[in-house]
Amino acid sequence: MTQPIKISILGATGSIGKATLDLVRAFPDKLEALGLAAKSSLEVLAEQIREFKPKVVSVGDQAARKKLLDLLDWPQSLAIKRPEILVGAEGLDLVASQSGAQTVISAVVGAAGLRPTYAALVKGLKVCLANKESLVLAGEILTQVAGDRLAPVDSEHSAIFQALGGRLDCLDLDRLILTASGGPFRGRSFDDLKKVTREQALNHPTWSMGPKVTCDSATMMNKGLEVIEAHHLFNLDYDQIEVLVHPLSYVHSLAGFKDGSILAQMGPTDMKLAIAYALSHPARWPLAQAALKQPSFEKFLNQAVPSPLTFEQVDRKVFRPLALAEMAGRLGGTAPATLNAANEVAVEAFLAGRLAFIEIFEVLERTLEALPVQKITNLDEALAADQRARIKAAAFLPK
Ligand code: NDP
Ligand code: MG
Repeated sequence: MTQPIKISILGATGSIGKATLDLVRAFPDKLEALGLAAKSSLEVLAEQIREFKPKVVSVGDQAARKKLLDLLDWPQSLAIKRPEILVGAEGLDLVASQSGAQTVISAVVGAAGLRPTYAALVKGLKVCLANKESLVLAGEILTQVAGDRLAPVDSEHSAIFQALGGRLDCLDLDRLILTASGGPFRGRSFDDLKKVTREQALNHPTWSMGPKVTCDSATMMNKGLEVIEAHHLFNLDYDQIEVLVHPLSYVHSLAGFKDGSILAQMGPTDMKLAIAYALSHPARWPLAQAALKQPSFEKFLNQAVPSPLTFEQVDRKVFRPLALAEMAGRLGGTAPATLNAANEVAVEAFLAGRLAFIEIFEVLERTLEALPVQKITNLDEALAADQRARIKAAAFLPK
């Protein structure tokens, strides 16, 4: 019998982290969680520790560690030892690279995911990457260290990875079409967007995700970050990467080849499929019976039901963040890192009720304009660009 794959999950308490643990629960013969890292959702983390008994855990800071220890109240008599509990950025890096796992699920939200992703890759581990922000910040650096040890989790990139048979490099690949649901504000005018609320922005029509990526889907910044992510993962020029709105999210993206063929991947809107494929490729696990909760889209393949496969162009004059991300990607250097940092600052302010939805766009534009583009040759330069842009973007928030 083959041994289970030993994994560490960074961002275990988030939407992707929990979906990954659902897979561990469904496939105990295939997956074992050795490391879990989170920041502040300690009740959830304590439950996960009791159920999955990892060897090493990391939390945001010392206060969180103390609270987690209280919540765990680990009996001395228990045959299984309490996991080692680490803290902060260093703890996160250690869970990424030193837990004894072979594979890391990189699913922290935001730029905080860059260092641990890099640490895992430098250590020679395989990384299943949900944290798109790390590729946006330092795509060249990560892909250079990674070789073939990077597997996308983002559903669009997973779709293309699946169309390529579980590989990132394909000389016959000619173009990519990334699909987007269009988010909750599809078809709205720029003036409409001035009035939308936080609750409306967080009400995604087809996917259930964490708040930051849900907000990014509403502004369409998410698709912009994904264009940059696709550029790095599949080594294609920006001219070869298109975006189309496909409101029902059945087709998760399309890969176009030199001979004119296009392969699309379809599936339910359940991230477990993409996470499992990142772990199992090129093989596939029997998810449909074991782990997928949502009904499949197959009823729509029935001739009696009108085809839901419609595609539309994005209006970049309304959804300016997509155009800004495409521009930043083409500029290269620090521009994507600057835009990403500005977005994290603006989205955090929006979610906290300190910024209107449309003001996110302004913070992005002003920060990108204010900072000159420089080259990035190493990780420290990428992180420095991120810090500079955070300070600049914060200055553009309302006082
Ligand atoms: P969530 O907000 O649901 O979860 C974020 C996770 O990151 C939580 O576990 C959180 O811990 C942890 N975290 C945040 N900051 C830190 C930190 N400094 N140190 C350690 N842990 C930290 O996000 P999602 O799961 O939705 O998204 C995660 C990533 O995956 C993002 O990059 C997103 O773009 C990408 N992604 C997500 C998809 C989805 O369906 N959700 C789809 C495609 C991509 P805590 O809860 O304890 O604070
Ligand atoms: Mg996606």
